[in-house]
Amino acid sequence: MAPVTVFAGRVGQREVYQKHLTEAAAVAGVEIDLRMDPADADPASVDFLIYAPDGPVQDLAPYTGLTAVLSLWAGIEKLLTIDPPPGDVSLTRMVDEGMTLGMIDYVVGHVLRHHLDIDRYIDASPTDRWETDFSPLARERTVGMLGLGALGGACAERLALNGFRVIGWSGSQKEIPGVECRCGEAALDETIAEAEILVLLLPWTDDTYHILNARRIALMPLDACLINAARGQLIDHQALHEALNAGLLRHATMDVFEVEPLPPDETYWIHPRVTVTPHIARATRPETASQSLVAQIARHQRGESFLYVVDRARGY
Ligand code: NAP
Repeated sequence: MAPVTVFAGRVGQREVYQKHLTEAAAVAGVEIDLRMDPADADPASVDFLIYAPDGPVQDLAPYTGLTAVLSLWAGIEKLLTIDPPPGDVSLTRMVDEGMTLGMIDYVVGHVLRHHLDIDRYIDASPTDRWETDFSPLARERTVGMLGLGALGGACAERLALNGFRVIGWSGSQKEIPGVECRCGEAALDETIAEAEILVLLLPWTDDTYHILNARRIALMPLDACLINAARGQLIDHQALHEALNAGLLRHATMDVFEVEPLPPDETYWIHPRVTVTPHIARATRPETASQSLVAQIARHQRGESFLYVVDRARGY
């Protein structure tokens, strides 16, 4: 029997996901009994729940027969804190080619902006001095990447291909072409201290909450830039405000915040050293995400284990 698969993403996405999930299943030769509205399935009969925290399913308790919860989001902290599925149910996070490529665009774009100091020329006026000093070459610029998973690893590799010296840090030792990979507590401080442009692509967990605290912000080189494309909870924002106000850091580009949408009275909106983007670094892409979801179901049907399984103890 085809597994009952319920789409529990946002209601407005049902049509586009129905198209792409159906197409992906046909291409993969996988039969699924797809229900785009959770109300159309007896929860106890559901095998796979395609889940997003902003979707209509907020209580997993009635889903007693689940094989897996397949998250539409790469970050799964909300699911783990608010509504985790029972321990014997597999929980996978989203790794989606489209999302990864989009994140590369965002990170490389903002790294190049800071590397070339593009803002200086955008803001130029006729009274500015005609200074012909040149910015360093990419190979003379060190970019630090905290988090070398699906997204951080791909961004680090692309930045290295662009010529940057890239130093990356993660929980376990990685090997990524062109990237100096590090792990361990001491290496974190070293990486932050060397990075002229620091990119955050760590998940938000108990261990990473405020990982960029006042002490570590003080380690950042003078005039360094920060790009946070992961979660707002990674940063001690009071300490970041102070470093920006003191002119110790050149710029912070932030896509994510502890409270979203970022409240209108939040000074980040008007701070001259801050760029706010509204959590657009990259969204899950329905077409490629559907391929990824169907591939997970196909693996299970072949008796293979799921990919990208969340380690609940580690929180990601
Ligand atoms: P991932 O594949 O799970 O990779 C996470 C990376 O962080 C891994 O390298 C992991 O180390 C490392 N890590 C986790 N906890 C650590 C710790 N305590 N110490 C050292 N390293 C640690 O995640 P991903 O798919 O790359 O996504 C990263 C995050 O990006 C997501 O969790 C989400 O919050 C955020 N995100 C943001 C957007 C946006 O639009 N702004 C979009 C998608 C995702 P190991 O490799 O050793 O496990």
